[in-house]
Amino acid sequence: MARFRTLDDLDDVRGKRVLVRVDLNVPMADGRVTDDTRLRSTLPTVTELSDKGAIVLLLSHFGRPKGERRPDMSLSLVTRAYEAVLGRPVRFIGDCRGETAKQAATDMQPGDVGILENTRFHKGEEANDPGLAREMADLGDAYVDDAFSAAHRAHASTEGLAHLLPAYAGRAMEAELKALEKALGEPERPVAAVVGGAKVSSKLDVLRNLVARVDHLIIGGGMANTFLAARGVDVGKSLCEHELAGTANEILEAADRAGCTVHLPYDVVVAKVFEANPQSLRTVNVHEVAPDEMILDIGPAAVEALADVLKTCRTLVWNGPLGAFETPPFDAATVALAKTAAALTQSGSLVSVAGGGDTVAALNHAGVAADFTFVSTAGGAFLEWMEGKELPGVKALEQA
Ligand code: ADP
Ligand code: MG
Repeated sequence: MARFRTLDDLDDVRGKRVLVRVDLNVPMADGRVTDDTRLRSTLPTVTELSDKGAIVLLLSHFGRPKGERRPDMSLSLVTRAYEAVLGRPVRFIGDCRGETAKQAATDMQPGDVGILENTRFHKGEEANDPGLAREMADLGDAYVDDAFSAAHRAHASTEGLAHLLPAYAGRAMEAELKALEKALGEPERPVAAVVGGAKVSSKLDVLRNLVARVDHLIIGGGMANTFLAARGVDVGKSLCEHELAGTANEILEAADRAGCTVHLPYDVVVAKVFEANPQSLRTVNVHEVAPDEMILDIGPAAVEALADVLKTCRTLVWNGPLGAFETPPFDAATVALAKTAAALTQSGSLVSVAGGGDTVAALNHAGVAADFTFVSTAGGAFLEWMEGKELPGVKALEQA
C-alpha cells in the first residue's frame, strides 16, 4: 500500500505550530450547528496534538463564498460549537493568511487551539494558488491533513500545503485511508459491492471501476431498473434511464469478461403511486410489473439470495440504498441486507465499508452504522475513491 506519514511520525511537537486541515463545513440552521459529526471527527487529532503541547491552527473551508468575505460563511459562527465539542477554549483568528494570522500564531501558547478564518474567503484556495499556500505554510512548522472529505479537491489548503511543509495524515484521515485500502486496495476475497441509489448516470464510473475489481456486483435502487430495462424487462413507469441501455449492457459485458457476477433483482416491490404504504403495493417477479406501476424496492426473495452471497464473501463495499428507503415500506430491502452485513461483520467473517450521503442515512435508519467496519461520511471524496480515482490530497500526502 502507498505510504504516508501519520502523527506517530510527528514527534517532539511541543511548542511547534501545526497547521491542521479539517472539515468544519457543518450544516447550520438559525445560527446553530445541526449536525456536529464533522466536528467530532477531528477530536482524536486535535486533542492529541494539543495534549502534546503543539500550537494547533485549524484550517477549513465553510460554504461556497467563492473568494469573497461573507459574514454568513465565517468560521466564527462555528467556533463556539467547536469549543463545546472539544471541551477546551478555542480562539477564532480572523484570516488564514497575512498579519492577523501571523500575530495570532505568534501569541498562542503550547496546547492552544485556534480556528483560522474560512480558506475560501481567498480566491487562491480553490485555484490552488502557490502564493496563498506559501503564506499559510509560513504560519506553521508542520502540516496535518485530517480532512479526507476535502481530499478530492486540489486546493491550496489541501494539495498545495502538503508540498510546502512536512506533511502527515491526521487520525481520521489515517483511519479512512486504512479502511478504504482494506476494502478495495488489497481486500480479502471474495469481494462484493452493493451499488444502489437513484440513477446509473451519476455512478457510471463507479460501476465501471467496480466490475474490474470485485467478484460480486449487487445492483439495486433506481439504477437496477435501467439494467433490467436494458435486458428487455418492462419496468412500467419506474424511474429508469432508458437512453443508457447501451451503457448498461456494456457494463454487464465488461463484468462478464472480468469474471464479476452481477446480481440484479428477480423480484421487486411496486406501487402505482409513490407514497407511504400505498394501497396498490405489490411484490412481484420483475417480469410482472404492470405498465402503470413503478419499482420502489427490490423484493424479499432477492434480498434472501443476496444475503447468501454476502455469507460467502470476506469484504463488502456499499454505496447507495436498494430502494426508496425514506418512504416505508420501501426501506425493507436496504434495512434487511444492512442488518445481514452488520451481523456478518460483527461475527468476524466480513469487512464492511460503506459511504455516500443517503447510504449513511439509510444505515443509521437501519440502526447498524456502528456495526459496519467503517462508514465514510466523506460524500464526494468517497465516490471518487470508488471510481478508482487518485485523490490529489491523498497523493500529496504520499509524496510528502
Ligand atoms: P448516496 O447519496 O448514498 O450516494 P444516491 O444519492 O445515489 O445515494 O441515491 C439515493 C436515493 O435513491 C434515495 O433518495 C432513494 O430514495 C433513491 N432510490 C433508491 N431506489 C429507488 C427507486 N427504486 N426509485 C426511485 N428512487 C430510488
Ligand atoms: Mg445522495
